This record gives sequence, structure tokens and C-alpha cells, in this order.
Amino acid sequence: MKKTSLALAALIATFAGAALADNVDAYSATYYAETQDQVRLFLKTEINGKSLLVPKFTVPSESILSLDIREMSEAINYQKISPERVNQEYSENESGAGARMSRGGWICGIRVIDILDEDLRESEMLERDDYCLSQTMIKNLKVMDGNSEPVKEAVKLQNEQQDDRLLKSVSNTLNRIDADAQWRIDNMPHEIADIGGRMISPIKNCGNGCLKANSEFGMRRHPVLRRTRLHKGIDLKAATGTQVVAVYDGKVLANRTESRRGRLKGYGYYTIVVYPTKGMQTLYAHLSKQSLRNGTPVKQGQTVALSGATGIGTGPHLHFETHTVSRGVMSVKNPRLFMSHLFARVASFFKFFDLTKST
Ligand SMILES: [Zn+2]
Repeated sequence: MKKTSLALAALIATFAGAALADNVDAYSATYYAETQDQVRLFLKTEINGKSLLVPKFTVPSESILSLDIREMSEAINYQKISPERVNQEYSENESGAGARMSRGGWICGIRVIDILDEDLRESEMLERDDYCLSQTMIKNLKVMDGNSEPVKEAVKLQNEQQDDRLLKSVSNTLNRIDADAQWRIDNMPHEIADIGGRMISPIKNCGNGCLKANSEFGMRRHPVLRRTRLHKGIDLKAATGTQVVAVYDGKVLANRTESRRGRLKGYGYYTIVVYPTKGMQTLYAHLSKQSLRNGTPVKQGQTVALSGATGIGTGPHLHFETHTVSRGVMSVKNPRLFMSHLFARVASFFKFFDLTKST
């Protein structure tokens, strides 16, 4: 019996390896999962010269977390060959009181991709890269449709049957593929826009004044909330109903709704699209309509939503964010890094026709 299942797993691993080699472009090592309940994220901390995992933040249910499957594969491998490297002491208490040894292994390098709460979303927790969760906690997360099939299969096999061979095979393949891409994402964010085509405008058919920014990325005093905080995107002028498109080939990760007591708040209706070959994702907020289901593959230029004025804002516009995702690490980047060529073109167009003088 055991032999049969082992042979089957080996067969799956071989097929997945072949499929990966044929289609390397379609995959990313990032695994996306949604929390079903509140989840406490742990951080590695030094207490009295001892490395300890302590709870740091609690994310609410329906938060999106990401982890790098290579990180996961390595941790599982160490549990077998040298468990002392991964079986860490942890405490349920932030002060480190009552620390005990974990029974299952811990996976670190977990990122918070999104939280359905404006204040938490703006907090520093999204900027951390070293959150840890026990494997048991990871098993309770909900797999998202936006993941690539081989990654989904590999994690499922590990979670359900403790079989990490497929995970290892997918992870090794991906390791080779994107060592180079990762360097580029970390060091030259503007360059990724040139691999396999440049970023196109996130809004389509918006007429004169298209790609006009009402508000830039950076620290600002919030026009409605009147608090100083990081504006994580760029606000593009767009009448309600303007087509919002995928900026590269990718996949719809999630259509989200931010509300409190039945009323739309914060980002209102918003959508996250992932672009595995780019190591990127884009977030579009304050939408009036979300057009595609979660997990739908999209082509560059395909309409994913219509812009609007839902949630908190001063009027209709598209709030557009660009995030890079590398080794499970998500960072928010200024969209101008990727869009500069678009703004330049619009500027020269306006100059040529002298349209800037008209109102
Ligand atoms: Zn905005």
C-alpha cells in the first residue's frame, strides 16, 4: 500500500517537473492563502541571548498571506535532516514567558499581502518579512485560486499526506528559474517592466486627461481621515465606469470588499491581480464593478473591473498600487517606477497639441 502511494507521488513529481520545464513562464514560487479565523503571526526575537518565536500581530480573518514555497521546502527538509535548525522554541506570550519547544516545524518568511481593514493595512506589519507560522497553522489557511496549479498541488500533497517530494521538485525548478529575476526585482524595479513587454496603462478609453495623477505615492495627510500616513498608490483621474485593465498577462488573485457594519469603507470594492512572470501584483481600489472571478487568467489590456468611488475618497478615481513579490516578500513600490514611460508619452502628447492650456 505504502509503496503504491510512493510510486504515485514520484510519478506526479515527474509529470510536474516536465510541465514546469515546458511552461516555466506560468509559475511563481509564491503561495497565496487566506486566513479563515484570526491568525497570530510570530516573529523571531532575541530574549536574554536566546532566539525565540513570540506572537507579534493578530491578523483578522480573510487576510491574504503569502509564503515562498522554497522557504517551506527548505524548512521541511531540515526537519528531517537536522531538526534542531527549525524546531524552535516559541512562546504564546510576547514577553517570552513559558517558552516551549515546538512539536511541528515553523515556516518563516511569511508576508501579509492584504488585510480587509484600512488601519491595519497601513500599519508597519505589511513591511515585515520574517513572520513565522507553525505548519499546523499553515494547514488551516484557505488555498487561493490565484495560485499556479503545480504550487497548489505541491502544498496540498505536503499538507494532506506529509509528502514533500513534489514540493521539493517544484521548488528546485523555480529556484533555478528566478534567481536572476529576483535580483532584478530587488535592484532594478524599473527593469522588470521591460521583461516580456512594458507595463501598459491601468485605465483604458479614458479620453483627454487620461493618466493624470490626482495624488501621488508617498507620505501625505489623508484628505478625508486627516491623518498623516503612507499613500501606497497613485490616484489616477477616472470617471466612474472607466475600464480598468490588467497591466501584464496574469491572474486575478482576489476580488475584495472592505466594509464595516454593512457600509463600504476604505478601499471599497477592490481587486488584486498577480503577474507571476513579473514577480509583481497590482491593486485597484474604489471600483464600481469587479468583472472577473477569482483565479481567472487575464491577458495584458483585458478589463478586470470598472473604476468608481466606493469606500473612502473625495470622488471618482482609480487608486492604483504596484507591489513586487520576491521570495514570498511583498513590497509596495511607487507605480511611477513602472509607469514613467507612459506618463512621458502623455506629457509629450499634451505638449504637441498644446492641450495643457485648455481646461
Ligand atoms: Zn489613493
